[in-house]
Amino acid sequence: MPTAASTLATPEQLAKYEPVIGLEVHVQMGTRTKIFCACPNEFGSEPNTNVCPVCLGMPGALPVLNRQAVEYAIAASLALNCQVREKSIFARKNYFYPDLPKGYQISQFDRPVSEHGWVEIAVGGERKRIGVTRVHMEDDAGKNTHDGYRDSDRYSYVDLNRCGSPLIEIVSEPDMRSADEAYDYLTELKLAIQYAGVSNCDMEKGNLRCDANVSVRLKGAEKLGAKAEIKNLNSFRFLRQAIEYEILRQVALLESGGRVRQETRLYNSDLDETFPMRSKEDAHDYRYFPEPDLVPLAISGEWLDRVKASMPETPASRRKRFTEEFGLREYDAAVLTQERVLADYYEQAASASGDPKAAANWVMGDLQALLKVEGRSMEDSPVSAQRLGELVGLVSKGELTGKLAKDVLLKMAATGDDAPTIVEREGLKAISDTGALEAIVDGIIANNPKQVEQYRGGKTTVLQFFVGQVMKATRGQADPAVAKETVERKLAG
Ligand code: ADP
Ligand code: ZN
Ligand code: MG
Repeated sequence: MPTAASTLATPEQLAKYEPVIGLEVHVQMGTRTKIFCACPNEFGSEPNTNVCPVCLGMPGALPVLNRQAVEYAIAASLALNCQVREKSIFARKNYFYPDLPKGYQISQFDRPVSEHGWVEIAVGGERKRIGVTRVHMEDDAGKNTHDGYRDSDRYSYVDLNRCGSPLIEIVSEPDMRSADEAYDYLTELKLAIQYAGVSNCDMEKGNLRCDANVSVRLKGAEKLGAKAEIKNLNSFRFLRQAIEYEILRQVALLESGGRVRQETRLYNSDLDETFPMRSKEDAHDYRYFPEPDLVPLAISGEWLDRVKASMPETPASRRKRFTEEFGLREYDAAVLTQERVLADYYEQAASASGDPKAAANWVMGDLQALLKVEGRSMEDSPVSAQRLGELVGLVSKGELTGKLAKDVLLKMAATGDDAPTIVEREGLKAISDTGALEAIVDGIIANNPKQVEQYRGGKTTVLQFFVGQVMKATRGQADPAVAKETVERKLAG
């Protein structure tokens, strides 16, 4: 990037400073309806079809709090180890923007739903806790679109379907010290929220949005430096790149005698640069005040306990169970718990197969390859977990060779039939009758005297030739290990 390179810090300059990062994360919760009205909370509908007087902010329309949204906010709070307040207050956050017809967001201010939590990440082999300052609920704004419509070079369009979608904002302490730590924090946070069943956290659909606050200070300094807030980070990769760029920019600025301005910046992924959006000095005053149309939210200990009791297993506990119960390696357990849908799929396949380790290999290997070829996600896998487990079970029980099983999987995806049906129809059952296999081996030995002589003369690599002949004669239905053992025995005898 020729534009930026000359203004960025050198490694020597960088080494004198410590970066400080805090994240503000918005999560759209997966409720059926919006937070204060009964409109569907849906992505991808025709613009301005999921709206009503409440979410359009018509005068006199009154909000009614969605119980499910509160339960999700509680579940997310618990998943992030936060303390849920007995009483929290909704507040109006006032500002003008075309995608906000009410002229204010209903949010929470000094009494949010929960506080004082943490998320654990791994840093250099140690566990490090990143503080979660608070979780608060709010309603989402609409969306302005600037392209894809008639005359969109001259007009902006406003879609209010998202207006009133239930959000939680999760604010971290300024506890992260590198772009990697921020990346890992967001990864663990996403996992915790997904597992709690609160949201699918799909960044592409805007269900997970992240702003990064970045500052630097001389190593050993106590006082925090002035921070820049970077908006528009719509992927994990961009989050890391934007923070890395911003650190280099700030260090270079300080090293050349300048000062970091407290401001909001945007990340441009094409240029891999951040640039100023608006200055925080003239940032709006939101004139927060308590929302007069909603009573304070009271969460009793009993309600809290009920939500707690209904919480699904955490990713950490699942990872542990996969190693202890199923005997998986740490690494495999981590891979299989990276997404909740994947963990759910694997667990079902494992129990249907009766061989959890083999199931892990199939899920991570052949199934992933199949999904990739078909351009499908785990959610709409052409082969169900139950059926994959059944296939793996056939291999484990020696009724199907691993090699033929790979073909059977492809046929399952193509035809929608299950493994036993395909094996039966195509006559692929493994040869378990040792007598039949021995007869085949005897025939092959009789027909290849030259190779037999070579083998007996000490050229043991010829063994592979015989095994290959057996596999060919049985159309892959012989177990290669058994074939090899039989050939060896016969040649020795
Ligand atoms: P603001 O008043 O600008 O909204 P807050 O104090 O509310 O700032 O913090 C917002 C986010 O910025 C939090 O995630 C917090 O951890 C982070 N943060 C605050 N100060 C700094 C700093 N000096 N450097 C980096 N991040 C910071
Ligand atoms: Zn509505
Ligand atoms: Mg703030």
